[in-house]
Amino acid sequence: MKYVDEYRRPEHCERLLDEIRQTVTQPWTLMEVCGGQTHGLLRYGIDTALEGQVRLIHGPGCPVCVTPLEAIDQAIDLCRRPNVTMTSFGDMLRVPGSRGSLLEARADGGNVQIVYSPLDAVRLAERNPEREIVFFAVGFETTTPATALAVHQAAKLGLKNFSMLVSHVRVLPAMEMLAASDDSSVEGFLAAGHVCTVAGFDCYREFVERFRMPVVVTGFEPVDLLGGILECVRQLERGEARVVNCYGRSVVAPGNREALAIIEDVYEICDRPWRGLGVVPKGGVRLRDSFAQFDAENRFGTPLTIIEEPCECRSGDVLTGRIRPTECEHFGTRCTPDAPMGAPMVSAEGACAAYYRYSPRRTNATSNAS
Ligand code: SF4
Repeated sequence: MKYVDEYRRPEHCERLLDEIRQTVTQPWTLMEVCGGQTHGLLRYGIDTALEGQVRLIHGPGCPVCVTPLEAIDQAIDLCRRPNVTMTSFGDMLRVPGSRGSLLEARADGGNVQIVYSPLDAVRLAERNPEREIVFFAVGFETTTPATALAVHQAAKLGLKNFSMLVSHVRVLPAMEMLAASDDSSVEGFLAAGHVCTVAGFDCYREFVERFRMPVVVTGFEPVDLLGGILECVRQLERGEARVVNCYGRSVVAPGNREALAIIEDVYEICDRPWRGLGVVPKGGVRLRDSFAQFDAENRFGTPLTIIEEPCECRSGDVLTGRIRPTECEHFGTRCTPDAPMGAPMVSAEGACAAYYRYSPRRTNATSNAS
């Protein structure tokens, strides 16, 4: 396939692996903050190929996984109201809140509908003026422009029955929190290519200055991932800390100006709870007052109430890179994609699901369980 095969060629991967091995004189710890990259690293065995030289740990990069319990609880409360249809991407339905999931709420009579885009929810509101249609707006900078566009469209159509439960998050403040934490072992970051396609990478310059840590904008194919790792370890070996774009075919320094403009118009920055991290200062966005009529929290009076994570599931430790999923005692036994105990095993982009799918321990765990 054109434009993909080039980034999967074994000979290119071997060359990059050799370069990384020749560059590294001591073990380095790098973190990616993107579920797609986590899956790529495991799927292509990059983590094991570099064992002993580069330790790859996984940050809170899955948008479904970082949506906090309390936001799921809010969505469940809304779907149980008599006149409300809660709409959401399919992945969100199985994610547990503190009182079960949206899927369970639907089985229990709640009105939940899967949509494939926020504009589908707007169209649903247009066709059903007698019902309140609420869209569950989650995700990073990659999905924020689409939900902002949905708000614009709803305003243009003059819809009175469309609103959004907003739980959008911003990656950079979470990286700052991780880099500043006392027990962090991260020495360099692979920045998520798709987030940077929207946000650009100028925004990382201050971070790099402050934490003296390289940030390398990286794509998703094996050649992209190895290229990002190579750039990162080269800088670390030289004692440098710079922002470098290794995903030039998609990312430019200032980002996507149109997407950023619509985000800026519809949203303002706020503190927001992340699953696994707690409340991250400036870690999310909320609707501006000028769009308050589309804010489901206002409309239905369902404020966010902070809830403690249950301690059985170690998603907090997984999402902050403190442990690998295989170090959780429930991995592959009590907790599997068919019977997930936590969000990182539910979501297709979750780190626990990635390890279950690709790691050798999965085979052990599966055969142990059978
Ligand atoms: S393996 Fe399951 S229980 Fe353990 S951290 Fe992952 S999601 Fe939670």
